[in-house]
Amino acid sequence: MVPASILWQHHLTAERKERMICDTCGRESERVARVVIDQGYNRLLAKPLWNCPECFEKKEQERRKRKEREATAQAAA
Ligand SMILES: [Zn+2]
Repeated sequence: MVPASILWQHHLTAERKERMICDTCGRESERVARVVIDQGYNRLLAKPLWNCPECFEKKEQERRKRKEREATAQAAA
């Protein structure tokens, strides 16, 4: 499994010198990564959010759990 820290580097599309606000928790962070929230059925709804490392990792874990559930559901079908 790819560590979240490596994914973080991958998603870190913009490094800013000024402090940025995390869109998820509202905290100031020196580093934020742009995360596009995948709405699945409608890509037009997908909007980019700025996330601090903690929120990024949380989202990544949620995404993995969702994928695991989907894989399990498909295997059962
Ligand atoms: Zn945050």
